[in-house]
Amino acid sequence: AGHPPRPTPTDSITRPSTHIPLVSRLFQPSNLRDVAKESHTPGEMTCKSQRLMQQAGLIYPSNPGCYYYLPAAVRSMEKLVRLIDQEMQGIGGQKLDMPSLCSADLWRRSERWDLMGKELFRLRDRHGAEYCLGPTHEEAVTELLSSHGILSYRQLPLLLYQITRKFRDEPKPRSGLLRGREFYMKDMYTFDVSEEAAYHTYESVCQAYARLFSRLGLPILKVQADAGNIGGKVSHEFQLPADIGEDRLLVCDTCSFSANVETMEPGQTDCPRCQRSTLMETKGIEVGHTFYLGTKYSHVFNATFNNSLNQPVVTEMGCFGLGVSRILAAAIEVMSKEEAIHWPGLLAPYQVCVLPPKKGSKLDDLAGLAEELAHSLGEALPRLRGEVVLDDRIQTTVGKRLKDACRLGYPYVVVVGQKAAEETPRFEVICQQTGETMFLNKDGLFDLL
Ligand code: ATP
Ligand code: MG
Ligand code: MG
Ligand code: MG
Repeated sequence: AGHPPRPTPTDSITRPSTHIPLVSRLFQPSNLRDVAKESHTPGEMTCKSQRLMQQAGLIYPSNPGCYYYLPAAVRSMEKLVRLIDQEMQGIGGQKLDMPSLCSADLWRRSERWDLMGKELFRLRDRHGAEYCLGPTHEEAVTELLSSHGILSYRQLPLLLYQITRKFRDEPKPRSGLLRGREFYMKDMYTFDVSEEAAYHTYESVCQAYARLFSRLGLPILKVQADAGNIGGKVSHEFQLPADIGEDRLLVCDTCSFSANVETMEPGQTDCPRCQRSTLMETKGIEVGHTFYLGTKYSHVFNATFNNSLNQPVVTEMGCFGLGVSRILAAAIEVMSKEEAIHWPGLLAPYQVCVLPPKKGSKLDDLAGLAEELAHSLGEALPRLRGEVVLDDRIQTTVGKRLKDACRLGYPYVVVVGQKAAEETPRFEVICQQTGETMFLNKDGLFDLL
């Protein structure tokens, strides 16, 4: 008596769900569902990803630069967060979560309270104390480290990161999630015993970024960058080449030199590294930014560790940003067609959509078969558990539902049509990544997926 019941083996947070989501029940409000793309008010819809994400009911506008992230977008964001967690924890990163309300006091000590100007959202509490809504967290994390008590050199390198909302009063919030005033960023802060060790850590974070982008299938350019008002000596941006990108990049096609124009002398056209080629200019969307900070913040906030001789030494820092919500929009921007979202496979909100025939058509007795198929996919293939939806809007034509499916960009759409009525039922499988359509029986479909 008195003992709590022992949890049963199935009582785990990874318990798989057998529930099949129905398209009719998905919450995907759109303020531009069937609006032709020409009729958008110019200035309102500034890019393809914003239009597609609003059309498909992924995001819904609120205030300038602020969006509701609707359920399908949240699924996709959560997948991206899991990938980032894997890569950051794979190099020893530990995840934490810092307050968004940051005291003005901290920001005055680093002298950024004034430097940040109008970009900082500032507010006062009921006692009149001043705060800002965190646009980045160098001050907070360094203060945390120094107030926790002195570290030993044995505890370094220390890699701390968070994935949280950041707030910046951007002068021109636009293009949907590409430039928000409230957005998700992954920010990692690293602490090392020496400059050399800090460069080693810097390299390992850059490699983790490269792995992340390659898993997403995004062709990223790593360019030399300006450290801006974050500060520090060495800095790189991870840029996704795109016409609508706001950054201008110079790339050498002979050696591996590439840089943001902000870092160059005006008018320079020859490669400063190999001096054999003329630099080519392209535009990019900044999806990540890495900085070697040195002791800029650790000095101010007195973040020290004890070295092997038990003497206090100021830590060497780095900081590493990824624009999480921007990556989502940027991927859609560069991969999608005008009327159909193409996702990096790993980020699609759902992997498969099963389409039963229209009600009242001569095939409508195949509805049960469609439902059974949706269930069995999730049961047979653990990877697809919770990833298969059934478009049960059987009052609507298959054509109209197919159009919606393309718009949301399920990697696979399975239509239960004419050939499903044959003795060995075959299904029409549309593979969005390749644009291919195939007719497969159940085994063929399982093999494909
Ligand atoms: P930008 O030059 O686009 O204004 P930034 O250089 O000011 O970006 P950082 O301070 O380097 O941004 O922040 C790290 C990352 O956060 C950026 O590389 C970017 O991917 C993302 N980011 C910055 N500002 C925004 C924003 N307004 N909306 C969405 N993502 C953003
Ligand atoms: Mg900025
Ligand atoms: Mg920038
Ligand atoms: Mg930057």
